[in-house]
Amino acid sequence: IRVTFTPIHRREFGIAGSIAVLQDVTEQEELEASRREFVANVSHELRTPLTTIKSYTEALNDGALEEPQLAHRFVDVIQNETERMIRLVTDLLHLSRLDSKEARLRIRSSDVMEMLEEVADRFSFQMKQKKIRRKVFVEHGISHISIDRDQIDQVLDNLVSNALKYTPEGGKIDIEARLQDEHTLSISVQDDGIGIPKKDLDRIFERFYRVDKARSRNMGGTGLGLSIAQEIIKAHGGHIELQSELGQGTRVTFTLPLRSEGGDGS
Ligand code: ADP
Repeated sequence: IRVTFTPIHRREFGIAGSIAVLQDVTEQEELEASRREFVANVSHELRTPLTTIKSYTEALNDGALEEPQLAHRFVDVIQNETERMIRLVTDLLHLSRLDSKEARLRIRSSDVMEMLEEVADRFSFQMKQKKIRRKVFVEHGISHISIDRDQIDQVLDNLVSNALKYTPEGGKIDIEARLQDEHTLSISVQDDGIGIPKKDLDRIFERFYRVDKARSRNMGGTGLGLSIAQEIIKAHGGHIELQSELGQGTRVTFTLPLRSEGGDGS
């Protein structure tokens, strides 16, 4: 609580009294603290690849260019780090558009089965490489839903790519759509991968929060995938949650309201 006193002056008495203003600043301070933390995180995330790029270009300049094989490897590293920065900045821009509510949803009717099959297909090459079995299931009676298809595709891509990243070879990924009730569709992406320790579960949707920073970085993660998914689902009036058991697997479930306008829905 911030207290400010303003004295009241009267010519004949000097100070005649004062006005005290009590202001609750906890919320303001929390907001300010989280903003500062966010800026520090962004700076750090950008600085890491930039430092790598700097040292590798220096090494090239200092003679590595003369050794074609070495030079090739160094250029690959530079390219990877540049791609990481582009991903990071793209994610940040996306988040900032979602934050400012600038990103209007472009709602159209979408076929649920087709949407889930397509996300599985987008990752089928990587799944084959890791010998991961996949299953797509859509409960009987579900056909279309009114959503911003590009944004929900982004959510599904983020969830399936996480499931792929954190599931070892030979695992499985299930993508399912069910009716939670007559007004709500529930979509889940489940894997039987490494899982998440209990202590991290509360913070997993925070921007840049990762269980294992090094592992996430190596996998090309930005630490923003779940935050972006959460913002998109919130904008649709839905809810997203994550359940996980260390060493057993992870299931992320999000809901979407079924709108009856336009004759679609279930
Ligand atoms: P990242 O880009 O690091 O994957 P996300 O926001 O998508 O960022 O996820 C945050 C963190 O949550 C990850 O770094 C990882 O530690 C954990 N995580 C997310 N999905 C899974 C999953 N399916 N299995 C295990 N851990 C996961």
